[in-house]
Amino acid sequence: MLRVGDILSGLLEWAPASLAWERDNIGLLIGSPDREVERVLVCLDVTEAVAREAVERGAQCIVAHHPLIFHPLKSIRTDTARGRLIEMLLRERISVIAMHTNADAARGGLNAELAAVLGLEHPRRLDMPKGMLRKLVLRIAGGATVADDIAHILGHVPDCTWSSHALTEGYAVEVLAPAFRLGDIQSVLIRELGAALRDHHVLSVEGALPGYGIGVAGELSDALPVRDFLARVKERLGCASLRTTPFDEAMNVRRVAVSSGAGSSYVQAAIAAGAEVLVTGDLSHHVFLDSADDILLVDAGHYETEQLFIRICAEELRRRFFDGKQKIDILHTRTDTNPVWFM
Ligand SMILES: [Zn+2]
Repeated sequence: MLRVGDILSGLLEWAPASLAWERDNIGLLIGSPDREVERVLVCLDVTEAVAREAVERGAQCIVAHHPLIFHPLKSIRTDTARGRLIEMLLRERISVIAMHTNADAARGGLNAELAAVLGLEHPRRLDMPKGMLRKLVLRIAGGATVADDIAHILGHVPDCTWSSHALTEGYAVEVLAPAFRLGDIQSVLIRELGAALRDHHVLSVEGALPGYGIGVAGELSDALPVRDFLARVKERLGCASLRTTPFDEAMNVRRVAVSSGAGSSYVQAAIAAGAEVLVTGDLSHHVFLDSADDILLVDAGHYETEQLFIRICAEELRRRFFDGKQKIDILHTRTDTNPVWFM
C-alpha cells in the first residue's frame, strides 16, 4: 500500500524542493507521511468545495498547486472559513501536499507545459536557477570499459552528463549534474562500482542550470497574425477573455514568452529574450502602461495559465504510481475553483 510519504517523494523527484522560491511553502502541509493512500485528488486550490469533493470521491490525499497554508498560522479558529477547512481536512484524515514554485520551474513543469500548449519551439528558460550545478569527480580503477560502465550506470539518471579520461592508473570520470540529483547519483555509483571506486569529491560549478526555471521563451513554427495567435491563447487555455496592451492589427507573432500565474516580474526578462509577446497572468495597470512600447503583453489570467497543473501533475503521479504494481486512483478535480468571473 502506498503512503502519503511515497506520493510526496515521487512528486519531489519531478519537482525538487530546492527549485522552490525560498519563501514558498511546499511539501506536506496537512496530514502524516505514514497515512495510507488509495486515491489522490489533484487541484489548483484547496477550497472547501474541493475538500468536500475529496471526501465524496474517497480521496485520502489532495495534491494542490497553491499552498493552503502560506503565511505562518497564528491560530486555527473554527469560526473562520480557513479554520473550518483545516478542521474538516484533519477530521476526514485527508492529507494535503503543495507543489508550487518548484512545479513552475521543474523540467516538464508548469512553465514548460504552458509553452508547449501554445506551440513554442526551442524553449529556453527566462530565469534559470543559479548555484545548483555540481561536478562529481571520481577516480576509478579498471580498464578500457570504464566509459561503458558509467554510461550503463548513469544512463537512466535524469539531468546528468559525464566524461572520462585515462590516468596513469585507472580512470578519472567527471559527472555534471544538478545538486538535487547528486545524492541519487553518488549512491548508485558507490553501489555499482564497489571497490573499483577509489575516491570521489564534489565541486560547485558556476553558471545556471539549463532546462529548469521560471518563464520560457521560444518561437512558433510559423509567424501568426496577432489575432490568430490571441485566438489560439484563448482556445488552448480556455480563457473567457484576454487583456492585452494595444497592438498593431498588422502585427505578426513568432517570438513568444510565457510565465504561468503572476508574471509581471518577468516582463523585462521576456523583452531581453527578444520576445514580441509575453503571455502571463495578473498584470496591473502600471505594468501594461510601462511596457506597451516594448512588448505585447497578454494577461490570460492567473487561473487560466495555471490550470494545466492538474493534468501534468496527475500525469506525473500516474507515470510513477499507476504501473499495475502499485495501483492508486488519480483524480482530476471536477470543482471549478477559478475565483474570477467575467461578466
Ligand atoms: Zn499561482
